[in-house]
Amino acid sequence: MRITDDRYARDRQRLDLAFRMIHHEARTCTIRTWTGLSDDRIRKLYRAYVAAHGASVRRHRGKSPAQTAYFLKNLENRRHAAGLAGLFSLLGLLQQSAGAEAPGGTRAALGWGELFCRTYETYLSLHGPQRISFEHACHLLHVLKRRAELRPDRCPSCRGLMVVDTLRSSRAVCPWCESEARERGTVRG
Ligand SMILES: [Zn+2]
Repeated sequence: MRITDDRYARDRQRLDLAFRMIHHEARTCTIRTWTGLSDDRIRKLYRAYVAAHGASVRRHRGKSPAQTAYFLKNLENRRHAAGLAGLFSLLGLLQQSAGAEAPGGTRAALGWGELFCRTYETYLSLHGPQRISFEHACHLLHVLKRRAELRPDRCPSCRGLMVVDTLRSSRAVCPWCESEARERGTVRG
């Protein structure tokens, strides 16, 4: 009986996470990887979601976005990337976690996925309108953890967290300090 209860609870947790991800327009492959649900069940969930909420949700298939340059493209994108990176750090996602590597649908993977959703939802409530999609946020976390192309750094002026290009050696200030400097007219451009 207890095993059945546990299975039921886990299945419920999977479906709840998948629903949350559908709401954020996550890709089918990301939902499958995190929840361990089959494509067929995800398809049915999409249908149920659309029936309940109208056809406003887009379903993304195929590969996840991987353009790292997007996060540094302009001041506003840099601000959003820095805000999201700050939340990743605050909520423990930048640290090594077994959940991130755990097979989809396990308790650890589901817990990690829920934490990611909570972090992304906090970003949306603090930094609207949204500039970084759910999938872009996944990609940002991935590159920040690998520190291959981007890494988190402290602003030399205000000590705030910012996202910098790993290959760039000059110490630029964070997007907030940069816009202040621009307003004072000390930085051109
Ligand atoms: Zn700064």
